[in-house]
Amino acid sequence: MELLDILRSPLCFLQSRLPTIPHLDVLTAEQDWWKTEGVAISGTIDRGGTPWVRMFDRWGKRIDEILYPREYQSMLRKGYRSGVVWRALEENSLIPTYLLMYTISFYDPGVCCPYTVSLGTAVPLAKYGSAEAQARFLPELLRKDDSVWQGATWMTEIGGGSDLGAAVSTIARPAGDGWRLTGDKYFASNAAAELAVAAARPEGASPGVRGLAVFLVPRYCKDGSLNYFIRRLKDKIATRSVPTGEVELRDSEAYLLGAADAGIYLILEVLNLSRVANSVVSVALAQRAMADALAYAECRTAFGKRIVDLPLLRRQFEDRLRTLRSAFALAWESVRLLDQVWMERPPYSDRYHLFRLVAHLAKYWTAECAADTAKWAMEVHGGLGTLAEFGAERWLREAMILAIWEGTPHRQILDGLEVMERKQAHKMLFAQLTEIAPSGELREMESEVQRLLSLPPEQKEAEAEGVFRRLAVCAADQLSRKYPQ
Ligand SMILES: Cc1cc2nc3c(=O)[nH]c(=O)nc-3n(C[C@H](O)[C@H](O)[C@H](O)COP(=O)(O)OP(=O)(O)OC[C@H]3O[C@@H](n4cnc5c(N)ncnc54)[C@H](O)[C@@H]3O)c2cc1C
Repeated sequence: MELLDILRSPLCFLQSRLPTIPHLDVLTAEQDWWKTEGVAISGTIDRGGTPWVRMFDRWGKRIDEILYPREYQSMLRKGYRSGVVWRALEENSLIPTYLLMYTISFYDPGVCCPYTVSLGTAVPLAKYGSAEAQARFLPELLRKDDSVWQGATWMTEIGGGSDLGAAVSTIARPAGDGWRLTGDKYFASNAAAELAVAAARPEGASPGVRGLAVFLVPRYCKDGSLNYFIRRLKDKIATRSVPTGEVELRDSEAYLLGAADAGIYLILEVLNLSRVANSVVSVALAQRAMADALAYAECRTAFGKRIVDLPLLRRQFEDRLRTLRSAFALAWESVRLLDQVWMERPPYSDRYHLFRLVAHLAKYWTAECAADTAKWAMEVHGGLGTLAEFGAERWLREAMILAIWEGTPHRQILDGLEVMERKQAHKMLFAQLTEIAPSGELREMESEVQRLLSLPPEQKEAEAEGVFRRLAVCAADQLSRKYPQ
């Protein structure tokens, strides 16, 4: 097999990296479905642009229904049926979920957003929900047929997503055996989900992140009326496979998850699931962009040769394949570690803090790789790369969102610094990396991190990006030595 051939399908790449792949038959069926049916549906949805919301039925009743074509539902429901959410809780492992996400996002990165937020609803419910809430909602989220409920995770408000402690103004008031939430969520992906997880501040709670709590908000009230309203859907660059809306909570029925003063831990646990998903999706998107570039470069000729055989382009493919493998190794390390700690509750183990650092590095670096690779892949297509009709521009558009949602690069860098400073997570990371193979480069990197951490606070933040980036690349390269070269 030629070196670059592993780019051609997600399973080919995964099999070249991982010694064992659970449920290979399920993944193979998923890949086959995407090749024969999913690709065409996904392309149509993407070209269709932002779907609409039908706000009222013809009798004037508010219904807030999102009008996707019927095929969208068949594409979306396929992944749920294959087990992108239910397998995690049934098999007590996140590995099958993230393998499915890798396979699916090679074909449609955006559709993994609904899966991720549904997982981000089911997991905290399974961990922190009351027995009553679990009995009522969990089976709905874990159904194996097309009637499965979808989840959503709504934290961000108009005041900003990075500083949730200052920006969340949704208020929660106790009401009978539950709560009532009032406020607006400005970025609400999977708007119209049957059940959402939302951050809100209980009336009278302290300011800042410590005063936030996390609630379950069903789409319908107990009396069957709408429990939240979709104000509009965003017309956005990036993916069209998930409806991102603005949602109004108006005295909405809600159920507390965990303790009212422990919301920040739950928010971060939900974000952990989605940051790891984002990393996996980023690598799959980069692989897809490279695969399309390769297919084009094998057919296009210039200067009497296929352009893939021109030395400069050939070298770029080989270098980028190495980077892709490293990015995968870093993303997969975040999967592996999360799989060990996802059921932990505060106070967390050292392993959890190591996971957090790796997840910040992976979210940051893989998203950068995805955008950079998609831009390069567009260049390989030359002018055709810019034309919507040929698809290369889609991967760049979809890649642009990966750095922003689930926390911008700044957030990853600063939270990564925090877990190094407060939990010494870098020491655990360097110990692990050294076990793979000791090297002078690793020792230098460790000294560089120590030097950064010893700087005065403002200087430390100002100088953090270069060190964090080098640490991400160094960790990714070192981790990739664990896999076949
Ligand atoms: C398509 C889409 C879907 C989304 N879906 C959801 C969803 O379902 N649920 C949800 O809760 N959110 C969602 N989001 C919101 C997303 O998580 C936020 O956009 C993101 O967290 C950043 O928040 P912000 O946009 O308010 O930017 P801000 O927080 O206002 O940040 C603006 C800029 O300031 C920078 N910045 C902030 N703090 C610092 C600092 N200390 N130092 C240096 N720079 C800093 C940021 O990095 C950024 O570059 C979605 C966003 C998009 C675009």
